[in-house]
Amino acid sequence: NNMEQGQQQVIYESNPIITATDIKVNVSMPEVAERAAATGADGVGLLRAEHMILGTGVHPSKILNEQGSEALVEVFIEGIKKVADAFYPRPVTYRTLDAPTDEFMGLEGGQDEPHEQNPMMGWRGIRRGLDQPEILSCELKAIKRLREDGYRNLNIMIPLVTNVDEIRKVKAIGKEVGLNMRTDIEFGIMVETPAAALIIDDIVKEGVDFVSFGTNDLTQYVIAIDRNNEFVAKYYMENHPAVLKLIEHVIKICRENDVKTSVCGQAGSRPAIVEKLVEWGITSISSNIDAVKTIRSVVARTEQKIILDSIRNAKK
Ligand code: PEP
Ligand code: MG
Repeated sequence: NNMEQGQQQVIYESNPIITATDIKVNVSMPEVAERAAATGADGVGLLRAEHMILGTGVHPSKILNEQGSEALVEVFIEGIKKVADAFYPRPVTYRTLDAPTDEFMGLEGGQDEPHEQNPMMGWRGIRRGLDQPEILSCELKAIKRLREDGYRNLNIMIPLVTNVDEIRKVKAIGKEVGLNMRTDIEFGIMVETPAAALIIDDIVKEGVDFVSFGTNDLTQYVIAIDRNNEFVAKYYMENHPAVLKLIEHVIKICRENDVKTSVCGQAGSRPAIVEKLVEWGITSISSNIDAVKTIRSVVARTEQKIILDSIRNAKK
């Protein structure tokens, strides 16, 4: 079957370096799945969905209206399957669609996208997903079918969460399509707004299996730097103390509540930040394809330092 084929296709280097922290990889396009799998990463920490749609050249609403929901489900199945196959049985975290209006405007049928002053603070992420549940349902149906076909390595996470209600609503839509979050499948959220970081206690109470830091967005919202605005690009700092403080806080609360933590923004490819995340006890790091190897050795070195320090302290 497809999965066995996928396993054979994956030729990944054996990992001479063992780490307690999982080292995963970000995948933005299904076409790079094989290359991403060959890094030897322990899974996909972020599978973006936007390119699955961009690849069709057609706006999802147009696909829905003209070809019906089965056609849209099929688009997602095709994209996700490529990655799930390449990584099987390693876990793959699918992130539901996070399309800012300016990105889908050029698509066939995209002329109806609203023109926003600042798309980065606009109609995107899970709030858009919940405003267009007919599209979100297709994504969840795709995951459900793949699971039924034996792809047990899939997880789901939702982008740009700002309140607990969004989590509740996604669980309800899952239920409607027959995919029970957390019982059928691991379910998590992206922590990429200051709001999500500051209400992490409420979020863990509502119930998630994991959270993943989207440091690209978290940084832009914490320090008020539009990540698409070249005039302020020089002020953009993922290692701003305010960003790091929020992350440290979230990891602490999550550890106390047995919720796994991960990072999938660019910070996960930056050695100096990764060292801190490992010291704070993050569960996994997801890096860019070309950074996986470096990050694995950075993590190994950091973990070794933690162990050595604790031995030295015990001898005092
Ligand atoms: C992030 O915000 O850090 C992230 C990983 O998501 P994206 O870059 O797709 O917004
Ligand atoms: Mg983001």
